[in-house]
Amino acid sequence: MKPAACVIGWPVEHSRSPLIHNYWLKACGIAGEYRREAVPPDEFRDFLQSLAARGYVGANLIFPHKEAALAWSEPDDRARAVGAANTLWLDGALRATNTDVDGFLDNLDACVPGWERSCETAVVLGAGGAARAVVYGLLQRGTSRIVVINRTPQRARAVQHWFGSRVSIAAWGERDHWLGRAKLLVNATKLGMPGQSELVVDVSRLPADAAVADLVYVPLVTPLLRAAMARNLRTADGLGMLLRQAVPQFQLWFGKKPEITRELRSLLEQNLSVP
Ligand code: NAP
Repeated sequence: MKPAACVIGWPVEHSRSPLIHNYWLKACGIAGEYRREAVPPDEFRDFLQSLAARGYVGANLIFPHKEAALAWSEPDDRARAVGAANTLWLDGALRATNTDVDGFLDNLDACVPGWERSCETAVVLGAGGAARAVVYGLLQRGTSRIVVINRTPQRARAVQHWFGSRVSIAAWGERDHWLGRAKLLVNATKLGMPGQSELVVDVSRLPADAAVADLVYVPLVTPLLRAAMARNLRTADGLGMLLRQAVPQFQLWFGKKPEITRELRSLLEQNLSVP
């Protein structure tokens, strides 16, 4: 049987992961397949139990399964520490890890070299699975203070309790107030994606040497990134993170380290530019 992997989400149609992994399968000469699987939350557990029977060697998880996956798999230290998994693979048992952390940090390192030298305070908007990976990554890299700001305060509080005293929280309505002290602003909400409202935030309050990262990758240049670029701030886009978090996934599933080529990036850019 051909080795196969999939992205599991609800919804899942918007996922660009098939473009990435099928490109790499072809480039590496592997006769495998990567598919989308639309799985509602109440069918998620059964689906995972039938993963091997369906011919899958592993899976990529997107909303709303990243946190739930921990209960139905054997998470590694990283996934446990983040409190969410985006990658599953079969290795006798069903194992889970979180490559969003690598994707976020590798992309920030590539787009904003040396960012952590001046980054005492970071503001992270959002408190979902992706925000947890961002907060974990920033803590690992020595950010002294991370202010998590989320529409629903209970979720921000849960992130603060999970990660401890270097994380503080602020109310959604106070987000502009915190920007004056932030050397890094990260959007880990869904705002800015098609069908969602625009993220309203006043980037003019950020210091001139601040950087802005947006996890949203549809559109490629979000209004937040556009506003940051207009101020000549350094930026890191969501597509860079998407590509980088996929590298360790492919390696786990198919045994080869794939390359992020210019051709792959432009294939995705073209795809994202089609409404
Ligand atoms: P999630 O767990 O559903 O979290 C969504 C977040 O967005 C929550 O903090 C939510 O706030 C906030 N939000 C949604 N609608 C909002 C609104 N109208 N106003 C204010 N806040 C709102 O999703 P996730 O998995 O963390 O993903 C978050 C984003 O990151 C998505 O856009 C996803 O595509 C992106 N992402 C990108 C990559 C990449 O590789 N580039 C990887 C992972 C995720 P509440 O708690 O108040 O609902």
